[in-house]
Amino acid sequence: MAEDMRTLAMGIDLGGSKILTAIVDPQGRMLASDESVTPAAKEREAIIQSIVDSAHRVLEQAALAISEVCAIGIGAAGISNPEAGVLFSSPNLPGLRNVLLRDIMQEKLGKKTFLINDADAAALGEFCFGAAKGVGDFIYITLSTGIGGGIIIDGKIYTGAIGAAGEIGHMTIDDNGPVCNCGNRGCWETLASGTALTREARKRIEKGTRTHILEYSQGDIEEVTPEVIHSAAQQGDSLAKELIARTGYYVGVGLANLINIFNPDLIVIGGGLSNIGDMLLKPAFKVAGERAFKEAFQAVRFVSAGLGRNSGVLGAAAFALQGMRKLVSK
Ligand SMILES: [Zn+2]
Repeated sequence: MAEDMRTLAMGIDLGGSKILTAIVDPQGRMLASDESVTPAAKEREAIIQSIVDSAHRVLEQAALAISEVCAIGIGAAGISNPEAGVLFSSPNLPGLRNVLLRDIMQEKLGKKTFLINDADAAALGEFCFGAAKGVGDFIYITLSTGIGGGIIIDGKIYTGAIGAAGEIGHMTIDDNGPVCNCGNRGCWETLASGTALTREARKRIEKGTRTHILEYSQGDIEEVTPEVIHSAAQQGDSLAKELIARTGYYVGVGLANLINIFNPDLIVIGGGLSNIGDMLLKPAFKVAGERAFKEAFQAVRFVSAGLGRNSGVLGAAAFALQGMRKLVSK
């Protein structure tokens, strides 16, 4: 146990809706975890304070002092440069712009801290402890409110020139498509995410298309979510089925692009929207098979994320442990 104590890390998954913090051992076991709501619309100070509070709660829960943790890893939503420890911008956290998040947390918590993109953290989590254990070339995709991704090449996260690589949700699929949070048009996530599915459903309901979808949301159009649409589809609602298949179609178009560019061994698919399962993924894989190079498509395997919603927090902790090892070996 004493040996283990020195190698415990704290992982923090800072997302647009929640902050998930955990104490993690080198085998990827969570000794304690804490979840809270991100004050996403608030100023920078309030968001930072929420992260600090969450860190203190998880330490208390694990009955540990910060001195018993070897490092902290923060996986933050948005464009960041892990080398410089700076978060440039985060579409869902407008209060955090050009913030030296790594150094701020390091100072506030008094512990060596590492910063990584949240989807890269999730990819690393799956690589170290989950569905991609030991796979050198793979892509992690999270189908959620938006679409995030992490690219692992030769066992390392591919971060690009300034750390901004892997923003697969923002590849252009339709140059005249819907406007994206990033300012561009027709990004993959404007067509194949949970937000896209919900938007199309609301649009069609408002147009008067015959459907039972509203019966699953207490008649409230604002309460129409991917889960609601899925429930209606399971009961045979034809509009719900059509909309999920359409979203799956666009998931497949993006997959074909990724397969042709990266020729990965494996594509790990996570995120809440992927819980819809076959109804979404079957059309996705069909379209990917039709559009990608045959040989590359035949070589790729698709698997579900193995760590569920914990992939990011576990990956952030793994990133901190890796960072410490690198420092020691220098
Ligand atoms: Zn975009």
